[in-house]
Amino acid sequence: MSDGHNGASSPKGKLLLVGFGPGAEEHLTFRAKKAIQEAECIIGYRTYIDLVRPLITGKEIIQTGMTEEIERASHAVDLAYQGRSVALVSSGDVGIYGMAGLAFEVLSDRGWTGSEITVEVIPGVTALSACASVLGAPLMHDFASISLSDLLTPWDIIVRRLRAAAETDFVVALYNPKSSKRVRQIEEAREIFLQHRSPETPVGIVKSAMREGESIVISNLLDMLKHPIGMLTTILVGNSQTRIFAGKMVTPRGYHRKYDIHTGEKLQRKTLP
Ligand code: SAH
Repeated sequence: MSDGHNGASSPKGKLLLVGFGPGAEEHLTFRAKKAIQEAECIIGYRTYIDLVRPLITGKEIIQTGMTEEIERASHAVDLAYQGRSVALVSSGDVGIYGMAGLAFEVLSDRGWTGSEITVEVIPGVTALSACASVLGAPLMHDFASISLSDLLTPWDIIVRRLRAAAETDFVVALYNPKSSKRVRQIEEAREIFLQHRSPETPVGIVKSAMREGESIVISNLLDMLKHPIGMLTTILVGNSQTRIFAGKMVTPRGYHRKYDIHTGEKLQRKTLP
């Protein structure tokens, strides 16, 4: 079987696009850990490199600033084309508001046909998953994920998505809710939700889930802005069924409509609402 090797003398380069999860090593997948260990060179945003630093001693490390995404992806692709094995790391899932898409755009720009270098995308536990689990079980029913960052997406598109998700009763995960420069977006998003949902709708506000400095707040649409919200926060807005009990935020899936939760028996059809 051909491995698509395009030259006997130089080894085929490998680009590993690695999502390392929310931060704690125990939430890193086995494959992500192995990929970071097998790569000769690790490239990532400075803060993320710091999170995986214990795994990468003795390797070549290239750290860049937050706004240097294109340089980072291009550098990783260049090194892989030179025959090296490179891990481009992102927090959470690399394919969810991460670096994977940009890496493919750079590859497309270089004319990659799928065989010049090997590319592997390695998934990780994304923020909405990590945040949902520390809050309880708020994503048990249909949900939407919306990033409030309008740096790359025009704000009117984000507003359309917010309106559609709010109106159709999706639970909504809000990534990138606020930064020191972007403060209005979360206020406007809240106003859109309030046009369709009760002020008591539960809202989970999670900062730095599963890493140092974790903070978990359960609030509601009325009070949510009284709590600190920043770059490391994800917000989960409940739907009309989401409840809070014993400090947990839970969206029922609908079992109670079909079964007696106490006995597990199927309810008679006539008792269904
Ligand atoms: N690829 C990442 C998302 C990067 S976008 C993932 O899959 O999780 C950056 C946004 O992700 C932050 O503004 C914040 O909204 C969210 N985020 C990332 N890590 C987080 C964490 N540990 N806790 C809470 N939110 C987090």
